[in-house]
Amino acid sequence: MNRAVQTSVICAICALTTAVAPLAANSPLRSHVSFLASDELEGRLTGSAGERIAADYLAGELEKLGAQPLPGSDGFKLPFEFTAGTSDGGTTLGLTSADLDKEWSGTDSVQALSFSENASVTGGVVFAGYGMVVPESQDFGYDSYATLDVEDKIVLVLRYFPEEMDQESRSTLARYSGLRYKALQARERGAKALLVVSGPRSPNAGETVAMTFDTAVAGSGIVAASVGGAVADQLFEFVADQTLDQAQASLDDGNPHVTGFEIPGVELTLDVKVERERRTGHNVVGVLPGGDSASADKPYVVLGAHFDHLGRGKNGNSLARREEAGGVHYGADDNASGAAAALMAAGRLAGMERKRDVVVAFWSGEELGLLGVNAFLDGAESETALDADNTVGYVNLDMVGRMKDNKLTIQAAGSSSVWPRLIEQSNVPVGFDIQAMDDPYLPTDSTAFNGISVPSLNLFTGSHEDYHRPSDTADKINYDDLERIARFSALITYKLANLETAPEFVKVAPRTDRGGNRDTVRAFTGTIPDYSTEVEGLRLSGVIEGGPAAEGGLQEGDVIVEFAGQTIANIYDYTYALDAVKIGEPVHVVFQRDGERMEVTITPRARK
Ligand SMILES: [Zn+2]
Repeated sequence: MNRAVQTSVICAICALTTAVAPLAANSPLRSHVSFLASDELEGRLTGSAGERIAADYLAGELEKLGAQPLPGSDGFKLPFEFTAGTSDGGTTLGLTSADLDKEWSGTDSVQALSFSENASVTGGVVFAGYGMVVPESQDFGYDSYATLDVEDKIVLVLRYFPEEMDQESRSTLARYSGLRYKALQARERGAKALLVVSGPRSPNAGETVAMTFDTAVAGSGIVAASVGGAVADQLFEFVADQTLDQAQASLDDGNPHVTGFEIPGVELTLDVKVERERRTGHNVVGVLPGGDSASADKPYVVLGAHFDHLGRGKNGNSLARREEAGGVHYGADDNASGAAAALMAAGRLAGMERKRDVVVAFWSGEELGLLGVNAFLDGAESETALDADNTVGYVNLDMVGRMKDNKLTIQAAGSSSVWPRLIEQSNVPVGFDIQAMDDPYLPTDSTAFNGISVPSLNLFTGSHEDYHRPSDTADKINYDDLERIARFSALITYKLANLETAPEFVKVAPRTDRGGNRDTVRAFTGTIPDYSTEVEGLRLSGVIEGGPAAEGGLQEGDVIVEFAGQTIANIYDYTYALDAVKIGEPVHVVFQRDGERMEVTITPRARK
C-alpha cells in the first residue's frame, strides 16, 4: 500500500457518504474514459495491441491504488487464449478420372469453410441441388436428398436457395439454406465431405465463400469447402446432358421433384486445412487487501467491468451504419465507463477498513462472448480461483456512462435476498431512481458469476443510438452521474465486504429457452444451453423447472450428443434439430453425464 492511500484512510468513509461538489474538468473518470476510448487504443479488440495497452494502463492504475496480484499470480495481467478467427491454410482439391487428372489450389478455386474439420477425404461425387432439407414439421416438402444415396460420397451443392420462387417459399427456404445447416444434412446422410458452389444464377456467382469469424463453436463434424465456378463447371463436363447453369435453372423454380444425381467417372480428393488463429487476451485482476479477511467466512468480494470493445467492428457484432463501417469503435460507454467507475470505486475502497478483501477485475473478451471472465473462473490462468466458497458477491458495471433523468437499472437483483436492502442503503447518499430487475441471465460478465452460484449485480444506464457504433465516444459520457455511480458501486461493495455472514445465493428460474432463434423455434423443451463452453455436443447450463427436459430427467451439466436421431456436435445442430421435432411427439435424447452415456425421452410442448 502506498503512502497516499494510507493517509486517506480516515476520510474514506465520509467521502463515500457525503455529497460532493460538481466535478472539475480534470476528473480522473474523464481521463480514464478519454484514454481507453482514444484512437491509440483502436477500440480495444481482445487480443489486439490496443487491448494490451488498455490492460497495461489498468494494471498501472491498480498498482497506484496499492492493489496486489492475486495470490499465486505474478502480476495483474492474466493472459487467456482464445480462437480469434479462421483462415485457409492451403486447402486443395484433386480430380481423378479415366482421361483427366487435375489439382486445384488457391482460394479462388477451393477454400475451406470456416467450420470444416481438418482432414483429407477421397470419394465419388454426388450433385445434390441446393442441398436443402426443410423439416417435415414445416409442411413444406423440400428435400434435396429424397432420392439420393450420398453415403461415403463427396456432395456438391449450390449455395443459397432457389432463386425464382414466390416470396413466402423463399423465406421458408432461406431459413434452411445456411451452410452449417447444409453441412449438417450432408453429414447426417453419411457424406464424407461437402462442396459448395455459388451457382451462375446466384448472388456472388462463381465465387468461393469468405471464411467468417467463427469463435466459440466447436467443429461441424464434416469436411467442407467452397469451390469456384470453374471447378464446378469442370465437374459438370462429366455430366452428359446438362451444365451447372441448366441444372440450377431447373432447380430454381423450386420443383422439389428435380433431383440430384451422381457425377459419373470422377473421384475427388479434398484436403481441407483450416487454420484457427489462437490469440491471447488479458484480464486485469488485483486484490485490495482488507483488514481482517482471515476471520471472514468467505474472504472475497469482487467488483468488475469489462474493458474490451469491438476494435474496428469486423467481428460481426458491430451496428455501424454503412458510412461508419471499419471505423474505430471507441466504446466509451461500452465499457470504458464501467472500467473507469470501477477504478474510481476501487480507489475509494482501497483505504477503507473492511472485513473482506476486494478483488478488482477488468475483463477482456466480453464482446466475443464472455471469454475472459469464463477463462478466469475456469481457473486456467491463476492459482486463485474465485468460487462460491470464497466469494460473497460480484458487482459488475457495464455501460454506465449515459445516465438520463437519474435512472439507474440494476440487473440480477434476484440472485440474492440481500440485494434489495444493500441497494436501498447504498442509494441513500446518491439518490438514484433505481429500477431493480431480478433476471441474472444477462449478456454481460455478471452472468458467469451467477453460473457459479455467486450473488451478482449488474449496473446499467441503458442502451442508446450509439451502442456498438463508432459514435460511442468519450465526449458523450455523462461524467457527473458516472461519478455518482462510482460512489454507489464503492458503497455497495463496501457493505458487501462487511456483511457479518455471506449472503445466500438465489437461483432465479430462467424465463425461457435461450437457444437458437427465439421467434422461430416453435418447440419448447425447457433446456438452457450453455454458450460459454467448448464441448463436443450441447452442454446444458440448466433446465427449466417443470419443463419437458426436467420432466424427462435432464439436468444441469448434461451434454446432449444426440437429439431426435440427429447427432448434436454444437448449438447449431441443436437449434436445427429443434426445428424438426413435432409438438407432443416423444423425442429420444442421448447425453453424457459424468462421462457416462445415458438416454431419456422428452416430449416437446408448443412454445407459448
Ligand atoms: Zn458491448
